[in-house]
Amino acid sequence: MRTLVLSANELNTAQIAADILKNGGLVALPTETVYGLGANGLDPDAVAQIFTVKGRPQDNPLILHIADPEQMALFCHHIPEAAYALAKAFWPGPLTIVLPAKDIVPLSTRANLPTVAVRCPDCDITREIIRRAGVPIAAPSANISGKPSTTTAQHVYDDHAGKIPLIVDGGACRVGVESTIVDLTEARPRLLRPGGITPEQLKAVLGDLLIDKAVTASIDRDTVVKAPGMKYRHYAPAEPVVIVAGSREKAAEYIHRHFVPGDRVLCFEEELPLYADCDPLSYGREADVETLCAGLFAALRELDDASIHQVFARCPEGDGVAFAVQNRLKKAAAFHIIDAEVEV
Ligand code: AMP
Ligand code: MG
Repeated sequence: MRTLVLSANELNTAQIAADILKNGGLVALPTETVYGLGANGLDPDAVAQIFTVKGRPQDNPLILHIADPEQMALFCHHIPEAAYALAKAFWPGPLTIVLPAKDIVPLSTRANLPTVAVRCPDCDITREIIRRAGVPIAAPSANISGKPSTTTAQHVYDDHAGKIPLIVDGGACRVGVESTIVDLTEARPRLLRPGGITPEQLKAVLGDLLIDKAVTASIDRDTVVKAPGMKYRHYAPAEPVVIVAGSREKAAEYIHRHFVPGDRVLCFEEELPLYADCDPLSYGREADVETLCAGLFAALRELDDASIHQVFARCPEGDGVAFAVQNRLKKAAAFHIIDAEVEV
């Protein structure tokens, strides 16, 4: 199969993409978070192809993308006031809401769960494509399962050339990490995944928010989680990643002491001079955490190289969007963290 790459700016792109989706095919779509691999979310055969192409475990549910916030009620029921409040505050935007599913949503889209995750993305071309397709679009991140997510059309091409008919190129993703996911199906709202919408922003609307333990800690195979996808190893390059926490000086001392040729250092732009002899790669500025969010996956993909021995990574501290960067980087590191303030 030849994979076409069409610019979001070209006149016919939306209609060509919508036609493929309507006919049960796959299209890679830009969003403000990451690129998604989309299919008609109401068609089990179309959805099945997503799992095949990505190599995604069948029990990992998909997010249903809608063109307009009002469409939430078409696919969910028992919608609490809190869901309307979140939609009003953050949609279109990088927030996914988990709600009880209507029967119209196939079991394969929601991995046999009684719930469905819905999101209205803040990306004009993709909302136009969904509108023209006339169906909600199920889309996970467009990377091969387990690998770092795709934040450019080139990343999608690298993973799936020859396997899908169309990639819509909307440029680099603005946010760069997947959406924040909030579960509203229990008595108290629960954060399942941090992203561009921060816990502080959610609390300002909801008044209350539990943080699921899968967000901050390693989950073993036998633990029952809210969504099975939460326990898979994620976002990981080929080689081991270890996070080195602590002050700039202590971390640099630790890394220089342990660095061997073949290792790499993933650091902040401000730290590049410190690691001049350690093959450093910067993923953004520590002083501007949004740039770390936007640059993380491109950097992890660049480091996805079997000839690399080990990656020492620096992770921003604090809350806000730093919480999302910490979550992705800790998962990429399989929660292997060294505190350079105490370890030598
Ligand atoms: P991604 O793999 O980046 O597309 O993100 C999809 C993720 O959304 C899954 O791995 C789950 O963590 C989450 N998700 C999707 N549907 C549900 C659901 N019904 N309940 C809870 N989480 C969900
Ligand atoms: Mg993913």
